[in-house]
Amino acid sequence: MLIPPPLPPPADTSRQYLVARPECILIELTNLCNLQCTTCARNDTYGKEMRKGSMDFDNVKRVVDEAARLTRRIVLIGLGETLLYRRLLETVDYIYSADPAIELSLTTNATLPESASTLAFICEKLKTSIMFSIDGTEQTYNTIRRGGSFDLFVKTTSTILRAAKAEAFSFNMVVFEDNYREMVPVLELAESLGVLAVNFNSLNLAALPHVPLAAYDFYDTAGFKAELNRAHRRALQLGIRLTTFDFETMGSFKKCKYPWDSFYITWDGFLAQCCAQPFPQRKHFGNVFELGILNCINSPEFIQVRKMWYENITPSICARCHKVRIPAITGIQHPIDPSARSRQGTQLTTIGGVINAPAYE
Ligand code: SF4
Ligand code: SF4
Repeated sequence: MLIPPPLPPPADTSRQYLVARPECILIELTNLCNLQCTTCARNDTYGKEMRKGSMDFDNVKRVVDEAARLTRRIVLIGLGETLLYRRLLETVDYIYSADPAIELSLTTNATLPESASTLAFICEKLKTSIMFSIDGTEQTYNTIRRGGSFDLFVKTTSTILRAAKAEAFSFNMVVFEDNYREMVPVLELAESLGVLAVNFNSLNLAALPHVPLAAYDFYDTAGFKAELNRAHRRALQLGIRLTTFDFETMGSFKKCKYPWDSFYITWDGFLAQCCAQPFPQRKHFGNVFELGILNCINSPEFIQVRKMWYENITPSICARCHKVRIPAITGIQHPIDPSARSRQGTQLTTIGGVINAPAYE
């Protein structure tokens, strides 16, 4: 596939704002979804306005050709369900043929009837790492993950995990007022299934304009902190590598590393602000199908975002983001067992661990 050559940087731009080797490229194969989670941005203004569809396979190849040259990590993710992409297996094959050493991850809600067979095929053939989205157990799961089924989720994940290497799997849970008591049950479920890495993210209101910002106050309550501390202790007992949203660093735009290391391409080719804002109608930095990934990453507008990052000035689109809005919270204890870390291997399938866990899933 023909990849457009890099454009010369704007004359007034110093090299410090350019990105040559992105840490990670996130590809949204589809933004169609089979669920209607209560916390999902799909249900709010920007999600309802966004165009919906799936990436044409010729464009998948075009994107992968360039991404494989630029980065060592590709994540198949989206404001949709990755397993709904009809040519997913071909895509995985194509990515590994472009670079057999690529670190490939995908996220899934694991609630399609065929999820187990699709994932089993991928896992058997390749070393893909997979992050399962889970927001609680039993009735809590069914209430939040509307249209999903906790029983099917467990059946799917246990089928996959029996067949594949456990280190390649993780759970991601968005923790908020309705489910925070489920942190320990989720850890225990993970352990029972052989999942050795769990990430607890906070709710992100960046793309939920109808939810009051006061929802972030919950994270500074005694009840939440007590449960989180209990979860840290339980994770240690269970030998699970637990990462969480960074609650202890003061919120600011500088807390976000996305403008530097992780770049999100929507199904229709737009380089978006990040995975929390996959809404080209709201903001984009060019179309990679036409301009190439690197030219969009280093477009004058994205350079401006990185200049703002240096000055810790928050772009208006990020004004409601959890990374910007949640203040430093004290009283969180998270014991680290170094021997547990080495026991569990090296691969955590979140996007860069604590800082860059997906912003909305
Ligand atoms: S949170 Fe994920 S699984 Fe749930 S509706 Fe949104 S995109 Fe679909
Ligand atoms: S601050 Fe939030 S909304 Fe802005 S780029 Fe980072 S994750 Fe995305």
